[in-house]
Amino acid sequence: MAQDGDILLGLLGQSLGHSLSPVIHQAFFDELGLSGRYDKIEVPDAASVPSTLEDLSASGYRGLNVTIPYKLTVLPQLAALDDSATLAGAVNTIKFDPTPTGYNTDISGLAEALYQLDLSGEGRVVVLGNGGAARAAVIAVSTLGFKSLQVVSRDPAKARGMLDQLLQTAERQSLIANCRQAGLTSFEQLVGPGADFHGDVSLVINATPIGQKDDHIPDNLLQFFKSVGGPGKCFVDLVYGKAGTPLTGVAQQAGFERIADGMEMLIQQARLAFKIWTGQLPDGQLARKRLNEKA
Ligand code: NAP
Repeated sequence: MAQDGDILLGLLGQSLGHSLSPVIHQAFFDELGLSGRYDKIEVPDAASVPSTLEDLSASGYRGLNVTIPYKLTVLPQLAALDDSATLAGAVNTIKFDPTPTGYNTDISGLAEALYQLDLSGEGRVVVLGNGGAARAAVIAVSTLGFKSLQVVSRDPAKARGMLDQLLQTAERQSLIANCRQAGLTSFEQLVGPGADFHGDVSLVINATPIGQKDDHIPDNLLQFFKSVGGPGKCFVDLVYGKAGTPLTGVAQQAGFERIADGMEMLIQQARLAFKIWTGQLPDGQLARKRLNEKA
């Protein structure tokens, strides 16, 4: 039950049953000695999003996270967009001030998680996927100084659209200008005669849900990991799991040296959202401890 003065936060989305965000944000409240509540707010369809936002604002909610499938749906409902949301083209955080402003903490959250892996910025980055998380990954690796990028998509035309959109404004261009080579490949072309880039791949990022719901990994992806793995190679799966993920297991077998799942990104994007809502940045240690205890 919320008390007067409690900070009210929540997560707007669908199928939120297994979300770890309430555990993370409760840990932030506890770490900082703040009184508040973080609710899961299931919205059945996109048509219900505008009235839900109005109701939550009127009920005193200070802010929300937004997840699948509403990261784009909320855009027309917002009074303003922070630069981070404009760059990402999607919103994962809303602050009611009292009108709603949209932010995106996925890019900075991922950049911070990647930074912690102490990457060199050398070699080629392969990003699997062309959705919101892939977009965040492309920008994050560019800010970390990687110069060569390969986006792998089951629909390369869609991936081309993502890269073109990122290049649309001068500001974005300068951000991803570090990437002097940004290529596109289909999953089918990952292995076989046309695949010529394996030797110089230093980092692979999975920004698709592959491995999230079941353990099936397509054969050509397995072969790709085998051909790329080895000392000095790094794999980051944005999917996260209790003890790694199916793809982090594949990467381990393939000999990748540094391997991480999406848990640290989840914590980092949450820290940044919490700061937007409260002005205070938790260090996240208590959240990590509680997530480990849950595992
Ligand atoms: P999204 O916008 O729906 O994009 C999903 C992407 O994956 C699309 O490019 C889609 O291709 C591709 N894809 C889906 N199933 C595939 C398959 N079987 N084979 C090949 N490609 C496939 O989702 P998102 O927001 O980018 O999220 C992607 C993943 O990252 C999710 O698992 C999500 O949970 C995770 N994520 C983690 C964090 C974190 O904090 N750790 C944050 C954000 C996202 P099509 O375009 O062809 O459909």
